[in-house]
Formats: sequence, C-alpha cells, structure tokens
Amino acid sequence: MPGHEQYETIIGLEVHARLLTATKIFCGCPTAFGAPPNSQVCPVCLGYPGALPVLNRRAVELAIRAGLATGCDVHPRSVFARKNYFYPDLPKGYQISQFEEPLATGGKIFDIRILRIHMEEDAGKLLHQSDASLVDLNRAGTPLIEIVSEPDVRSAEEATQYLTRLRQILMYAEVCDGNMEEGSLRCDANVSIRKPGDPLGTRTEIKNLNSFRFIRAAIDYEVQRQIDVLENGGTIRQETRLFDPAAGETRVMRSKEEAHDYRYFPDPDLQPLTIDSAWISEVRSGLPAMPGARSERYQKEWSIPPLDAEALVASRGLADYFEAVVEACGNPRLATNWVRNEALRVLNDRKLTIEEYKVTPAMLGRLIRLVETGAIGGKAAKEVFDEMSTSGEPAETIVDRRGLAQISDPAAIREAAQRVIEKNPTQVEQYRGGKTQVFGFLVGQLMKEMGGRAKADVANQVMRELLA
Ligand code: ADP
Ligand code: MG
Ligand code: ZN
Repeated sequence: MPGHEQYETIIGLEVHARLLTATKIFCGCPTAFGAPPNSQVCPVCLGYPGALPVLNRRAVELAIRAGLATGCDVHPRSVFARKNYFYPDLPKGYQISQFEEPLATGGKIFDIRILRIHMEEDAGKLLHQSDASLVDLNRAGTPLIEIVSEPDVRSAEEATQYLTRLRQILMYAEVCDGNMEEGSLRCDANVSIRKPGDPLGTRTEIKNLNSFRFIRAAIDYEVQRQIDVLENGGTIRQETRLFDPAAGETRVMRSKEEAHDYRYFPDPDLQPLTIDSAWISEVRSGLPAMPGARSERYQKEWSIPPLDAEALVASRGLADYFEAVVEACGNPRLATNWVRNEALRVLNDRKLTIEEYKVTPAMLGRLIRLVETGAIGGKAAKEVFDEMSTSGEPAETIVDRRGLAQISDPAAIREAAQRVIEKNPTQVEQYRGGKTQVFGFLVGQLMKEMGGRAKADVANQVMRELLA
C-alpha cells in the first residue's frame, strides 16, 4: 500500500452491548429477540406523553458487572441525560443516555485504556422497503452499555484483539450474549492517521460494524483512503461513514457540518443513579475469573504456550471444561493437547457447544490417565476418544470391549518376539551381520504380531536382547 510506512494509524472504538435483561431499561416490556414487530411495546417505550420511566435494577447490576470486569471505577453517582434528536425510530424525540457523569471510567483491556462505560436505551429499528419504510419499536428501550476506548489502538489487528477480549469478558460476566449477527454487540470505529510524533489527526467514525471481518476490512480501507487523500494534498474531513460490505468500502453518511447538537440535559424524570459500595462489593464477589487472568495463569503456572492458552479461554464454558480436565488428570500439557486438538475438533465437526459435549471432563481426564500410565497406547487412545465422543461411554468400557489395553509384560512380548525371529531368519542374519537398519522392520513385525498393543519401549528392549 503506497505511503503506508510514513503514517501511524490511530483508532478509538465505541462498542454498544445489549444487556441480558428479561425486560427493558425503563419499562416492563420483554426484550426477547425475534418477536413479531411492535408486539413488545408500552406507553413508556413508545414515548407517549406523560409516561414515566422506572430504571431497571437488573440493568444497572449488569452494567456494574461490565465496569468491574473491565477494571473500571464504578462511580457512586451517575446521571441519565436526554440526548435530543429526531428520527423515526425514536418516538420520544430523545434517547436517554449518560453523558457528563457516566457509570464507570478508567478501565483497561491489554494496553487499551477504557475512557468510559455508560448506560443508555436502544432505539427502534427501521425496515426499508421499496415503497415504504416500516418501524419496529420492539427494540426501543432495550438496555445497552456503551464502552468507549481511548484512541490507543494502532491497527486493525489490535482492534480485533481488543474487541475479541471485550466480547469474551462481557460473555464471561453474563452481561451480554455477544451475538453480533443479532446486533447484541455493535462497534463504531474512529480512525485517523498521522506522521509519527505529530498531534492526533482528524478522525472519521465508521458506524455500526457488526462482524470482526467487517471491522478489519473497514479499518484497512479507511486507513488507505485517508493516506491517499493526504498524499494527494487533500485534508481529512471529520465525518461519519458507513461500511458497505459488498463494495468493501466506506462511504460518507453525514459530515461534521451536519452533525447533531444533541442539547444534552439531565432527564428530569430520573433521579441521579446512586450505587453504594456494598452493592459494588456484592456484584464483584459474584464475578467469575476473567479470560485474561485465566490465560495468564495457564501460561505461568502450567507453562501452556500463549496461543494455546488464548484458545482455551475463548469461552467461559471451554475454560471451565479445560480446568476440570486438568483437575481430573493432573497433567496440564496433556490436557491442553486433548482439549484443544481433539475435543475442539469434534465439537467443530459436529457443530456442538462444549456444554452439549458427551465427554465430561472427568471422562477425558480418565482417558488421559490411561495414556499417561501406559495402559493404552497413543493410537488406541485416539480410537477410544472418537468412540467416546460418539457413544458417551467411559474410556475403560471401550478399552475392555475392544481389547485395546496395552501389553507391557516382557514375558508375553518375548514370546511373540521369538516367533518373529523364527519367521524372519534372513533379516535376523543381516542384523547380526551388522546391518542394524533391519531392526525397525523386526520391531514392526513384532507390533503386528501383537495387534499393535505391545508397549513400544518394552518391545524395543525385548527385541534388542533377543537379537544380541
Ligand atoms: P464523540 O462523542 O463525538 O463520538 P468522543 O470524544 O466520545 O467523541 O470520542 C469517540 C471515540 O473517538 C473515542 O473512542 C476516542 O478514543 C476516539 N478518538 C478521539 N480522537 C481520535 C482520533 N484523533 N483518532 C482516532 N480516534 C479518536
Ligand atoms: Mg462517537
Ligand atoms: Zn415498554
């Protein structure tokens, strides 16, 4: 890409996450996704005059969880404000959001600082048809948090890492279901470029990115577009842009001149939100260990390579599963191989979640023990594992039924080795004459003679002794 080396990319991310409440933020309407249009509405979320909002306590609790899980300070006082603008999906003529006094500030994910987390309500949804635009207000009043980062992100790759971890954290904390296709998690990317050492450049904001692929493509496109503008002597205008996935490009949605003056002011219908320290402690004590801390622990305490550790914390269910396997078998390295390479392959092939998987951590742990103690060989273990994944039977049952137990008794192995030596006089003579390469062939014959069940090191040793 021309001119790329001379510029530094600066990105700040704004993420909207739908909170996992059963009901809306200021009324009792359900939030379930996919209901018939306008079936989950009431005077409050339809913005009828005189209807009064009542704050959903559960929504606040989930927002506090998000704040604590991302290392933010949760403030004892925050204020709901009216963000005034007109749009057909916003029947009240304003969105209730937090502005000057947000719920939480000052967290961190990797090296990316979190500026603020605030609570707000979602708007409805417009469905554009050829002859008309329809509005569905089921989504109006759904509780959201917005998580705003500092402009600390330096590439599309870093943006992906930050968003992946943020999504994991929100899902671990059961704050948000993380479903980007359904819009439970949406991202706006603010992008600018500068020559290293210069002050921050003018940014553009790319709205409503709802997949990791689009986020990467939109940022890469936008960076190159800005470089081209500057290299051709132009200036970047502050504007809001939309990403068109089909064309793979961003386009102007509105410019700074058209930007809204939202005339924020505190909502007179809602008291300032006060959160006492007892509530914060209670919420904190209910949080599970987070993916970052778990990945670090796997690496430090168990010497798991970073990429494996990250794969194992991808979801809370998987991390819990992995830790239970380690507990059951006592060998983190083997547990890593079996969970990451074998269990995940089966889940992937069969489109199952870890929660649906028939092989419990205890069962996998026992299989690993059988391998570790030499009761079965590596090849047999894979067979047992595959059968276990289908039938859900314990490893021992399968080993017994299929006669897969490994033979490590030297006497039994010697008997078979004797037969191999009798059947292959030429090779034996070659070996004794100094052509030691045939040793591998003779051991191979021995394994065959024993149906592959002889323990490899014992077989080698016995054969060597008999040939000597
Ligand atoms: P607004 O409310 O207009 O969106 P904010 O001050 O809340 O403005 O900033 C929005 C986002 O833009 C934040 O994530 C911030 O980190 C990011 N940002 C601010 N300045 C820049 C810049 N020059 N380049 C890239 N991102 C920026
Ligand atoms: Mg913004
Ligand atoms: Zn309602």
